[in-house]
Amino acid sequence: MIWKLANPQLRDLAVYEPGKPIEETASKLGVHPDSIIKLASNENPLGPSPRAIEAMHAALQNAQLYPNGGSFYLREALAARLGFTTENIILGNGSNEVIEFLGHAFLHRGDDGITSEYAFIAYKLIATLFGARTIETPSPDYQQDLEAMLDAITPKTRVIFIANPNNPTGALISQDKIDKFMSRLPENIIVVFDEAYFEFLENSPDTLQYVREDRNVVVLRTFSKIHGLAGLRIGYGVARSGLIAVLDKTRQPFNVNSIAHVGALAALKDEAHQHETKRLVDEGRAYLQEQFAAMKLHFVPGAANFTMVKVGDGAAVFEKLLARKIIVRPLKGYQLPEWVRISVGTMEQNKQCIAALKEILKHRQV
Ligand SMILES: *Cc1c(COP(=O)(O)O)cnc(C)c1O
Repeated sequence: MIWKLANPQLRDLAVYEPGKPIEETASKLGVHPDSIIKLASNENPLGPSPRAIEAMHAALQNAQLYPNGGSFYLREALAARLGFTTENIILGNGSNEVIEFLGHAFLHRGDDGITSEYAFIAYKLIATLFGARTIETPSPDYQQDLEAMLDAITPKTRVIFIANPNNPTGALISQDKIDKFMSRLPENIIVVFDEAYFEFLENSPDTLQYVREDRNVVVLRTFSKIHGLAGLRIGYGVARSGLIAVLDKTRQPFNVNSIAHVGALAALKDEAHQHETKRLVDEGRAYLQEQFAAMKLHFVPGAANFTMVKVGDGAAVFEKLLARKIIVRPLKGYQLPEWVRISVGTMEQNKQCIAALKEILKHRQV
């Protein structure tokens, strides 16, 4: 009965399935939470920057005050770092909230959004929430095809969402392909480059140049990944000031909390922690991919802090790893039932995960 009263698009809206929580797994297995290895949500195995933790502790003393509504200091620090002004930056309660702002602002009932097959699921969930259709273009060999996205444009297309690198595939699109795509892109379409893993890249494509050129481009970044602040929910969008002004109309006044503000500001300055995280992830990703190759498992060579690997029955392997206190991400929800996504952890965690995987797959036919 209540569904009859609700907005019709909500009936078909899939529920986002997060990585299985540590506490739930520990209590089910009857073990201590510290013995669980979570490689399911691309989190930072080193935790947050110690400087961020210290700053957040201090900020708790003033928790009675509302946050700085315009997030001025953090926006100023980000703008200075990226070579923009504060008018080019919008903060979200996670970069996912900025995707929601985009939905509010640009995706009406009957509009189209375009993204790639196997793209990060949030784009489709949010488009659906606003009654818009999502066109998903084929992704041969798990690589996003930007030409196919251009060819899919209809008169109703408003937004194109491109995760680079994409999650869960890990595949990265080159500068060359991005430049070709931008040269063909009609002016009236907004392109979102979701760069949640930007700081892990060696040769990161430059999409901010298109913001400087006043194109309708929104670049998303986050404090959830390299900065290790996923629990605080803070991310941001960079775009030309006119576009940010539109998005800002859809933002609730205190969308980002005061603890996240100071944590992010301190994390941004802690370059040593960012370097150490990248070093650990580079080492761990190389190890995981080497081991997958030795086990003759098909994997997508990725640039971020996770790798997608083909294990046969993804759900079964997920359950068997779970029984061994290791949480990974099954990908059935992405129409990839034979694959799992494994985040890079500490070297010890990576080794335990590979040892468990070898045990589980030892009778497999290749
Ligand atoms: C992890 C991730 C994000 C981060 O989302 P937050 O809301 O900032 O935590 C965004 N996009 C992609 C593709 C991701 O994998």
